[in-house]
Amino acid sequence: MNILILGSGGREHALAWKIAASPLTDRLYCAPGNAGIAREAECAALDIADHVAVIAFAKERKIDLVVVGPEVPLCAGIVDDLEAAGIKAFGPTKWAARLEGSKGFTKDLCKANNIPTAAYMRFKGASAAKDYVRKNGAPIVVKADGLAAGKGVVVANSIEEAEAAIDMMFGGRLGTPAWEIVIEECLVGEEASFFALCDGDTAIALASAQDHKRVGDGDKGPNTGGMGAYSPAPIMTADIDRRVMDEIIHPTVRALKHAGAPFKGVLFAGLMITAQGPKLIEYNVCFGDPECQVLMLRMMSDLVPALLAARDGQLKSFDLRWYPDAALTVVMAAKGYPGSYEKGSIIEGLDAAAQVEGVEVFHAGTRSEGGKIVANGGRVLNICARGKSVREAQSRAYAAVDRINWPGGFCRRDIGWRAIEREK
Ligand code: AMP
Repeated sequence: MNILILGSGGREHALAWKIAASPLTDRLYCAPGNAGIAREAECAALDIADHVAVIAFAKERKIDLVVVGPEVPLCAGIVDDLEAAGIKAFGPTKWAARLEGSKGFTKDLCKANNIPTAAYMRFKGASAAKDYVRKNGAPIVVKADGLAAGKGVVVANSIEEAEAAIDMMFGGRLGTPAWEIVIEECLVGEEASFFALCDGDTAIALASAQDHKRVGDGDKGPNTGGMGAYSPAPIMTADIDRRVMDEIIHPTVRALKHAGAPFKGVLFAGLMITAQGPKLIEYNVCFGDPECQVLMLRMMSDLVPALLAARDGQLKSFDLRWYPDAALTVVMAAKGYPGSYEKGSIIEGLDAAAQVEGVEVFHAGTRSEGGKIVANGGRVLNICARGKSVREAQSRAYAAVDRINWPGGFCRRDIGWRAIEREK
């Protein structure tokens, strides 16, 4: 098969690494890709927001399957457009991707199907929203509808903070003014992520993970796209995994099918494990970044037949095998991230790092310049490792980090701390 991956981050490098290892893969392309992906796939300088260009490329290279990495093209309908042009694509349609694109849509779907989630109300104007906040008190959570790259959520600890968030969202300080916001109950517990593969009808569990969103050690400082992750999440016992499938994933897949928008692709549930059990915080409609990296390291089975079975509606009798090991990834970012940072600093020692036992280095934002690898983004590298325990995976990952010579970069030194505490 000729396969085209869309995207350019560490998630797409991990997908490229796994797909390149499949005996089913003939030629592998990635658009636009990065310097690390270029080792696994032929990178094509396409603008993936230009669906016509992506379709033309796929036809010219006789692509048998397009694998879409990020959520933005999914919400923009790239799968609908590719399929309409006769090209198989892995991922949800625009209609099904509303699970991520519209918080109001997802909350209503949960309510109608008894899927456990935080109590909520939807608002189109600030004054009713503020009345609701005053009535319910703090802490309370304010969310802008629509994709906001992780910036559309404020967990407010006081009524004043919640009112300021409402004004900020309707006032357009996230870019365009929110047309609707959701205000919801603040859930208490430990967060975890759960991934399932869906074919429109059937869902099968992939694995769980936990990430670190804050930039600094001890989970302090501003939010980022993710500074590290590990899988499995120790809080996810077999019983909680089963409850997530029965109470959250299966009802969602059934509801979308009945709504005429069957969900195909990866369903990524952001969960709060509360005293009453797992509750849905939000859905994402693709593999997470950096969670995908640790999932790919743990997946023993060939990924390509799984992606095809999901696309073709054939997951019913499908089974995936996993290594029992833990996997962990440390994100190396450019100094200054998530604020402003410089591009172009030289990175050395990558080959030496990759030689540490159990380690894979995925590139998140790099390019080649005169035979050298240089930083080309905020999150730049994912240093990943497998191990018998999270602790072993962590010590291997940091042994690899220490072989990298990149004065322009930094990373957290405590990825996995919560899981390691539990292992003790
Ligand atoms: P989201 O973009 O919906 O994933 O929200 C981002 C983060 O905000 C989550 O990972 C949680 O840490 C927090 N959050 C969102 N909704 C809630 C909630 N209802 N209760 C507590 N924390 C929440």
